[in-house]
Amino acid sequence: MTIQRLEHFINGVTSPPASGAYVEGFNPASGAVISHVARGTANDVDAAVAAAKAALPAWRDMRPIARGRILTEMARAIRAHADELAAIERRETGKAVAQARGEIEGVALYFEFYGGLATALQGEQINLGNGYHSYTRREPYGVIAAILPWNAPLNQAARACSPALAAGNTVIAKPSEATSGSVLELARIAVQECGLPKGVFNVVTGLGKEVGEPLVAHRDVRKVAFTGSVRAGREVGRVAAERILPLTLELGGKSPDIVFADADLTLAAPGVVRGFLMNAGQVCLAGTRILVERSIHDTLVNMLAESMRTMRAGSGDAEIGPMTTRGQYEKVQEYYEIARAEGATAMIGGALPDPHGLDGGWYVSPTLYAGVTNHMRIAREEIFGPVACVIPFATEAEAIEIANDTEYGLGAGLWTRDLARAHRVAAQLDAGQIYVNEYLAGGVETPLGGYKSSGYGREKGLEALHHYTHVKCVTIKL
Ligand code: NAD
Repeated sequence: MTIQRLEHFINGVTSPPASGAYVEGFNPASGAVISHVARGTANDVDAAVAAAKAALPAWRDMRPIARGRILTEMARAIRAHADELAAIERRETGKAVAQARGEIEGVALYFEFYGGLATALQGEQINLGNGYHSYTRREPYGVIAAILPWNAPLNQAARACSPALAAGNTVIAKPSEATSGSVLELARIAVQECGLPKGVFNVVTGLGKEVGEPLVAHRDVRKVAFTGSVRAGREVGRVAAERILPLTLELGGKSPDIVFADADLTLAAPGVVRGFLMNAGQVCLAGTRILVERSIHDTLVNMLAESMRTMRAGSGDAEIGPMTTRGQYEKVQEYYEIARAEGATAMIGGALPDPHGLDGGWYVSPTLYAGVTNHMRIAREEIFGPVACVIPFATEAEAIEIANDTEYGLGAGLWTRDLARAHRVAAQLDAGQIYVNEYLAGGVETPLGGYKSSGYGREKGLEALHHYTHVKCVTIKL
């Protein structure tokens, strides 16, 4: 297979790295090197920020309906290029076919949604009585950096960048070094086919320390949207604190999925399984702590294990793709050991799959642990693989207590036929998104963000559009 060269996209053109250096990109389904990715440095960051700064006035001052039209055109182009974009993502992440296609449609939806909302950024008039005219304006921050993870590369890029662009900001995206291809291709399509002006959307590739840090520290970057681990989020937060830089942090999770005894178990069992196995568990919102009412515990555990038994790890149409990075592959194996040491019972999985037919890829087994308490490490730490644990509870109050006993607070699910209970419990769960009777229900329209260590700020929905503007108040003595 030919090794592809991937380079930055700055000011509307492909740009080689100032350092002349590249990092290797891998195909997780085989472990083979598939690309050489430009290893950016502060010099490349300077060039991208200068391009974004120069492009800002014209983009910011463009009539919003015209800006929105360009983003809507990007949505059309994304759908037209969906096969190639999904193929790039599959090569770099190992995603199952259906997963990759679904995520690319999500990318189009983000641009469609925020393209349509570009005109919705309105100010308000404030009544100070006679003698004054006072009003607010929502203004873009300016140059924005979007620092991105590898698990849903283009989808998360779209989630951060489309509202930022709709609000009139210019953007520098910094993808994970493991997954730069699709974001680079989108930037090219946007400029060459959709009329996005040069410099409005730039991509600098490379490592967190060498590109991410200089981006956050750059004096002309006015806001950062960071999606990734708590560890890196803290580092970004420290630098941002020095600069008084507004920040959106979308970090990790250890989300509870609560099944009450009155739930329709024929819906709940496959729903709970999807909730933690989607994208081979590499989903920040994955429902990996399955809290089950004691009276249905054994029944549900058997149903979950049964529906997982038929799932295949492998490439292409198999349900469970590989871990996208070697580090993640090793991390899941460490948690198999931790679970063993903590005395959890693997109802299914708990060790690497039979390597036969897996072509040397970074595959792990979908795993369900029972006999778990909420203080074990496997119940407290984000594994970010297809691994969940089941924890029994006796009462609604205990379910809420266990659900909230975590440093995270990104998502939470609950399954019940009792409408009053659904609202009551939803109100008491400390998490940014709550799902009732369908885990991960929602769309580009529904705001997302963390409580506690899962982060702050909101993405998606109208909420995100507001997060990419600040409010100016003008008061005139008449
Ligand atoms: P990561 O934190 O290692 O890297 C994320 C990005 O930050 C990468 O582009 C990386 O190069 C960059 N980076 C690393 N250190 C940096 C620093 N000091 N300064 C600036 N940039 C830096 O995360 P990952 O391994 O790529 O992704 C997995 C994590 O992301 C998981 O914890 C997952 O839960 C989280 N995640 C959260 C969401 C969400 O919406 N909340 C979505 C997807 C993934």
